[in-house]
Amino acid sequence: MAVGLEALFTSALGLQAPWSVARVELDTARRRIDFDLTCNATRLPCPHCALADQGVHDRLSREWRHLDFFQFEAWLHAEVPRVACSGCGKTSQIDVPWAREGSGFTALFEALALSLCQELPVRQAAALLRCSDKQLWRRIEYYVNAARSLDDMSQVSLIGIDETSLRKGQNYITVMHDLQAKRLLFACEGRDHQTVVDFAQDLKAHGADPAQITDVCQDMSAAYAKGVALAVPQAQISYDRFHVIAMANEAMDGVRRQEMSTQPQAVKEALGDNDRKLLKSLTWAMRRNPKGWSDKQWDTMHWLQRSTLKSARAWRLKMALRAVYAKAVQDNNAEQSTADLAGWISWARRSRLEPFKKLASTLKQRLAGVVRGMLDNRSNAYVEAMNGLLQQAKRAARGFKTATNFIAIAYLRMSKLKHLPPNPLQTALPQTGVLLHRCL
Ligand SMILES: [Zn+2]
Repeated sequence: MAVGLEALFTSALGLQAPWSVARVELDTARRRIDFDLTCNATRLPCPHCALADQGVHDRLSREWRHLDFFQFEAWLHAEVPRVACSGCGKTSQIDVPWAREGSGFTALFEALALSLCQELPVRQAAALLRCSDKQLWRRIEYYVNAARSLDDMSQVSLIGIDETSLRKGQNYITVMHDLQAKRLLFACEGRDHQTVVDFAQDLKAHGADPAQITDVCQDMSAAYAKGVALAVPQAQISYDRFHVIAMANEAMDGVRRQEMSTQPQAVKEALGDNDRKLLKSLTWAMRRNPKGWSDKQWDTMHWLQRSTLKSARAWRLKMALRAVYAKAVQDNNAEQSTADLAGWISWARRSRLEPFKKLASTLKQRLAGVVRGMLDNRSNAYVEAMNGLLQQAKRAARGFKTATNFIAIAYLRMSKLKHLPPNPLQTALPQTGVLLHRCL
């Protein structure tokens, strides 16, 4: 006997008794396939108290969007029984095996949507799936919360704290990373000491004791240092190289900007017969590593070094600090690096360049932590890589960039969560009829 279309799709959809496909309707013009599912049971266990063999009270009509079948948009329809229970007295709708309660998408459709959102901006994933961004954001939040509630942080000991902002200079978000597992542990709004306190609470909720944190790598923020002292007082702070070099760049930019705007005469004299265009390439040439200089930038920097401008000294100070860092990695000797850094600090303090004097006193106050950060080369590349991923997460939330959305997508992409549903196109589950879906 030939197998009917309904039986074939009952199996393809992974349905089991009492559920089966009663009718399949293919609309080639609309590229759509509709499945009517039926539940042939008249007596079922109570979904509320699990008492067996209770009567079906009525049936409610519902529908779900499912994974496309060969580029046909697929919809499931069912009359879902409500059970009137003689035990607990409640009338409750039964759970269906293909979708979680309250969702208009099947579980496989949601799993595919989540997988797409890990790779594509949410707006683009929504367009591809022909649903709304809002529908996807709700699911991202739901599944990320569910996966995070099962997340295990019991092995965490090395933390990186950093800040990012959703809009230039506003809407700050603090992010905490596990520097060993290289994943995002926690993110929240703000950048005050409370963020670290909240993080310690979150650790406790995930099977970790804040007392197990041995090292915190952070920027120069006094607020984070205060939070660390309050919430993880035993941890040693190291100041990340990435942030210290960024501060040196800022100090250098500050000197240059000030000199260009307040002493145009000195700049003009230094420029002599040279092309004024020279100045324009100065900003980027000074920031850039000499390895990346263009010919024009080589000319510019050659000119700058022969001038008596403060900007030239500022650039030399920055390069010297970079050299101290590079040497620290080679020497791998805390005493030597402390001496080298102290030498730089003393030069910077005598430089008569305000931004560098300020930086020097900041570094001096935190000398031990700065030296720890110099020697701990391992976190640097990671911090930079994380910044790249955070930027991608921001782009993924374009158009819907609220703190909640950004944090949810950052967890989805950067937390290596183990309890997210797997991509249905990459996992062959015998129960789900996935083979039929491969051609989506
Ligand atoms: Zn009951």
